[in-house]
Amino acid sequence: MSKFWSPEVRELTPYVPGEQPRERLIKLNTNENPYPPAPAVEAALRDFSADHLRRYPDPTSFALREALAEELGVDTAQVFVGNGSDEVLALAFQAFFRQPRPLSMPTISYSFYPVYCRLYGVERRTHPLDDQWRVDLDAFPEEAGGVIFANPNAPTGHGHGREAIARLLERITDSVVLVDEAYVDFGGESAAPLVERFPNLLVTGTFSKSRSLAGLRLGYAVGSRELIEGLERVKDSFNSYPVDSLASALGIASLGDHEHFDACREAVITTRERTRVRLETLGFQVLPSQTNFLLVSHPAFDAAQLFVGLRERGVLVRHFNTDALRDHLRISIGTDDEMDSLIEALESLCR
Ligand SMILES: *Cc1c(COP(=O)(O)O)cnc(C)c1O
Repeated sequence: MSKFWSPEVRELTPYVPGEQPRERLIKLNTNENPYPPAPAVEAALRDFSADHLRRYPDPTSFALREALAEELGVDTAQVFVGNGSDEVLALAFQAFFRQPRPLSMPTISYSFYPVYCRLYGVERRTHPLDDQWRVDLDAFPEEAGGVIFANPNAPTGHGHGREAIARLLERITDSVVLVDEAYVDFGGESAAPLVERFPNLLVTGTFSKSRSLAGLRLGYAVGSRELIEGLERVKDSFNSYPVDSLASALGIASLGDHEHFDACREAVITTRERTRVRLETLGFQVLPSQTNFLLVSHPAFDAAQLFVGLRERGVLVRHFNTDALRDHLRISIGTDDEMDSLIEALESLCR
């Protein structure tokens, strides 16, 4: 605590990202992709001239937005890009959720949402998951000041189909519904095609997980022109150039390489399902997942102790020290070799 901090800063509870360890560990704690970015990204990196860096980037990131629009089947004016989807989410909180009525979200979802609520003074209303740990879409009230959830949800892994999201949007028409699709490429169904029908739908996505570009910091939003304009107003009041020219060039290269993209996500999905079966054989309860992670618990072993035991054996997973998640571990999907090491370590711990 410092007397130099603004009063609101004293009240903040910052988000704590998964550890980036200094020692060599098998890193299954932050849902990074175990495969390298597309070969086209490497080529674009090699071809990028340092002289480009003399100039400011295009403040509208037009070329990147155009490439994304083509990929998503929408108009360029319906796409917004930012420095990671976390930044896009932060701008969306400012643009849409500072309302007199509270923002509705599931009790268990991405833990950055409550952090933004504090930062922007947004009142929060939470709704429990259903008995199978799925987001209960029917629980979100019509009078909400906004709705936000991840779909597929994190860290639970379940995703609702497009039809279910459409039914929610037929009911909630007076405020923005933000669907965070950070994991959609691992088996979920994107709600992006619905933005034509529902002017209050904002879908966000990221290059960090399925495109293996977490270090580049690229995220996006798709929505109606009026929502995108709202985001641009906030962005242009804060930072005109959130996406640098190198990130733009590499993002465009990534979008052009469909073959690599599909091969990587299929590999992750195959490894995920193989890992699920092996974990179940060890007695773990494993929630169904449409993401690149598994949320697991063991009826006989304490999750916090398993976390420590795994770390001692060189495997880093994620343990959330909250009432709802204390009994669980979130395990990111790595390569088959990495998952072999995980299973081997668990075999020695769970006996
Ligand atoms: C990883 C993640 C993000 C953030 O992605 P970045 O683009 O790396 O900022 C957003 N939402 C959810 C649910 C995530 O898991």
